[in-house]
Amino acid sequence: MLIYPRIYMESVKEITIQFLKNNNIKALILDVDNTILDFDKNIPEGIKEWCEDLKHQEIKFCILSNSNKKEKVKMVAKELDLPYFYFGTKPFKRGFKKAIKLLEEKNENIAAVGDQIFTDIIGANRCNLFSILVKPIAEKDLLITKIKRPLENIIIKKYLSRRGK
Ligand SMILES: [Mg+2]
Repeated sequence: MLIYPRIYMESVKEITIQFLKNNNIKALILDVDNTILDFDKNIPEGIKEWCEDLKHQEIKFCILSNSNKKEKVKMVAKELDLPYFYFGTKPFKRGFKKAIKLLEEKNENIAAVGDQIFTDIIGANRCNLFSILVKPIAEKDLLITKIKRPLENIIIKKYLSRRGK
């Protein structure tokens, strides 16, 4: 199903090297807003260290944000020292294709991480990437995200109950 993530986690920090190795994942495509950046434009504690640690273990990274705010995405990319694309047009394949090309790994060896089903997860699944849904960092979501949340919560609930069977 396109709308279901392969796995649901509390935070990107739960993505361990062991998890990546077990699933043959060599590269990560990261969403920005609410995935590695909070509403006040801060990178939460531990994210930089998490990223550094995986980089040292040969995991490649690329940021793919739907935001059209170049300066914001660039700031995060600079802070984490990662390549980036902004205005990513997720769930369309275009942005993902650019990230995949940059990462130089096969689609099945790449995971895409994000907090939104309708952009991050559907886009990742359409490209046959390993989709990882994370809980949004901030509850103070942007208005457009807020409208979509109730429906996302229903899908997540369904997903979790299916998985429990
Ligand atoms: Mg997001």
